[in-house]
Amino acid sequence: MYNVVIIGSGCAGLTAAIYAARANLKPLVLEGHEPGGQLSLTTHVENFPGFPEGILGPELIENMRKQAQKFGTEFKAGAVTEVDLTRRPFRIVAGKDSYETQALIVAAGASARLLGLKGEKELIGHGVSTCATCDGYFFRGKPIAVVGGGDSAMEESNFLSRYASKVYLIHRRKEFRASKIMIDRVKANGKIEFVTPSVIEEILAPKGHVEGVRLRHPQTGETREILLDGVFVAIGHDPNTTVFKGKIEMDSNGYLIARHGSLTSIPGVFIAGDVQDHRYRQAVTAAGSGCMAAMDAEKFLEEHKP
Ligand code: NAP
Repeated sequence: MYNVVIIGSGCAGLTAAIYAARANLKPLVLEGHEPGGQLSLTTHVENFPGFPEGILGPELIENMRKQAQKFGTEFKAGAVTEVDLTRRPFRIVAGKDSYETQALIVAAGASARLLGLKGEKELIGHGVSTCATCDGYFFRGKPIAVVGGGDSAMEESNFLSRYASKVYLIHRRKEFRASKIMIDRVKANGKIEFVTPSVIEEILAPKGHVEGVRLRHPQTGETREILLDGVFVAIGHDPNTTVFKGKIEMDSNGYLIARHGSLTSIPGVFIAGDVQDHRYRQAVTAAGSGCMAAMDAEKFLEEHKP
């Protein structure tokens, strides 16, 4: 029996763990299918306060993990497959393992979206990627594409230009939703070519690995092919909330709905990070909400001693 189980080991979950552990609650963190969350898949983080020179995402997350461990947080690998939140203690199932807890913090984050093209999923690891940091190195000296028009697409294009011989930035509109500073950096990068407006109609992989893409102009319908070795999909994220369907209140996009900070409609269940935030989605806001969830859980446990 745990006082607090925290689902998710990204910025929000680890911050919640640091606070809960320092409150002597001996929390258990279930790491999920993407341990470390999105920060562990990113490169340089320049906007997390306290690091004037920036810090690498994986390093930042490793530091948080050590900090949580130092105060007595327990970690277990595995993704949650089922939850019973109808009565306390809550029951959390992760594969063959099952846990009981007096309070629950859901910080399950959000995962990278795919384009939904035929064969795309199967080609992950064979030229299709959602993580520039993880896979960029494999494309040294090769032409690649990045898909998307947000900050992620800009950041990944710049990062990948260190390795790739050429980066095609493919976006379905002529306008970008990325911030101006990020767009300007990409524009100043001679290795990156904007291909807009354009959508990928097909990923060409006749031998089981990416050899090119067929593009279509969304207005004229005109198509053309580009030969390249990799396609990095950077089109946003979906919240990891499937197991909470019908159990915790969520919006039409699957994001959990927080009330008064980290509270949900179920007493004892708290939420933090990208799983409940499609607006800010920053490391620092995720950390802040993780802190709030742990403080709310601590107060709840104090008021509801078994
Ligand atoms: P985003 O801002 O939601 O942008 C997603 C992009 O992908 C949009 O340009 C969208 O096109 C495009 N897209 C979505 N679905 C598509 C589809 N099916 N086919 C083709 N294109 C599609 O996502 P993000 O770039 O991942 O950024 C998420 C948040 O993280 C933002 O708040 C961002 O500022 C933040 N972020 C910050 C940094 C940083 O500051 N260092 C780095 C990365 C991310 P449309 O524009 O046409 O909708």
